[in-house]
Amino acid sequence: MADPNVVFQQCINPDCAATYDLGQTLYACTRCGQLLDIRYDWARLAVPKKLSDFQARWASRGNPLDRSGVWRFRELLPFFGSADPVTIGEGQTTLQQADELAAFIGVKPGRLFLQYEGFNPSGSFKDNGMAAAFTHARMFGARQVACASTGNTSASLALYAARCGMRAWVFIGAGRIAFGKLSQALEYGAKTLQIDGDFDACMARVQEATKRLGLYLVNSVNPFRLEGQKAIMYRVLESLSWQTPDWIVVPGGNLGNSSAFGKAFLELKNLGLIDRIPRIAIINAAGANTLYRLVEQEGLRWNGGRVDAAKIDAFFARMKAENRKASTIASAIEINVPVNLRKALRALDASNGLVREVPDEAIRDAKAAVGKFGYGCEPASAASVAGLRRLLAEGVISPGERVVCILTGHLLKDPTATVDYHVKMDRELSNKPIAVADDIEAIVAAISGSEAPNSEFGIRNSE
Ligand SMILES: *Cc1c(COP(=O)(O)O)cnc(C)c1O
Ligand SMILES: [Zn+2]
Repeated sequence: MADPNVVFQQCINPDCAATYDLGQTLYACTRCGQLLDIRYDWARLAVPKKLSDFQARWASRGNPLDRSGVWRFRELLPFFGSADPVTIGEGQTTLQQADELAAFIGVKPGRLFLQYEGFNPSGSFKDNGMAAAFTHARMFGARQVACASTGNTSASLALYAARCGMRAWVFIGAGRIAFGKLSQALEYGAKTLQIDGDFDACMARVQEATKRLGLYLVNSVNPFRLEGQKAIMYRVLESLSWQTPDWIVVPGGNLGNSSAFGKAFLELKNLGLIDRIPRIAIINAAGANTLYRLVEQEGLRWNGGRVDAAKIDAFFARMKAENRKASTIASAIEINVPVNLRKALRALDASNGLVREVPDEAIRDAKAAVGKFGYGCEPASAASVAGLRRLLAEGVISPGERVVCILTGHLLKDPTATVDYHVKMDRELSNKPIAVADDIEAIVAAISGSEAPNSEFGIRNSE
């Protein structure tokens, strides 16, 4: 086991700062109830002198740990000590330079990049976090793992549990999960509890059940999961030849990803491995906009960790009194009570970040645009691109800045949303099927009547 003075858990509340060793699976400070961080005494650990040192791993990618998009950066999340990290090939994702999409939304060529996390084994970024959480679970002998989920956490949990030989318990809101995701949880053998409530209710119940039954919880309140998700940012830097972009634009649900990104950059800066932190823009769906309201309308700030708790409590009391429930087509971010709220405030503070909300129509159109140019993503992911459009229109992001949008989940996760847009809706990019008689003349006429694209873009790798 790692030396508890070198690697430990610590409460993020500076007035508490209680520490716990790695073997305690708590998910919250037992003294004050706030979130826990994984902390390292870096001076006593072996950290590469520069980020490009990680390139040495490219030569040894036959080793699964060097191939993993998480563990090839293992010196930056060294909580596992001498234990064997869990990997199933997560993080083989790519940063795509999206010049056609850039032109479509008004960004200069070579400045817009899409970090496509849909390429992960279960089709979403959650696998980055699950590799780390399951490593911790296995270190301390967990047999049963659990999560509340809008879908992708359960798909990822179910996959990792199947490969690790653990029993998986999934709490989902009845009728609220996209079919691609539900099918994964069922196929991978997770026990699925359909709770008669929304995600926020499932999250509360799974935390209670975890306490009562000693299940290992893998929602993003689990600080080990966020350690794995830091690697998404390491891969972005790697793809940009270790240069820092100007902006990271990420959808915000439970705010685990944005929190992990903030922690990743803060640590890299403190270690002297980067010289500046990109600005993080967190995008809420308008129908699930707690962070947007608190930060942009009510001025809530990290404030050195002394967050205005009265403001937060009053906000949620009002939400409860109004019986306001989250509602958006972007089911993965349909969350009104984000568990990582405070850590996200820290990420915004560290990165001079900001929050925006986007309506469902903008999410749907952005999703179709991402797909049209050959990438593709699920609705929640497209909130990042919709948010970018909005920030361009506001003049907050300028067309020449280097922007990375995180595409959090695969196009195939939510086929219903995609087919509805193209078949049932009449939007700018709707691509309706053409009904044609079973007759070759009619088919020829239909094809001849349509113009072939005349594009200045297109990949030219063979030139
Ligand atoms: C989980 C998820 C999100 C939300 O991420 P948080 O870390 O909860 O903010 C966004 N998009 C997709 C596809 C997801 O699965
Ligand atoms: Zn505490």
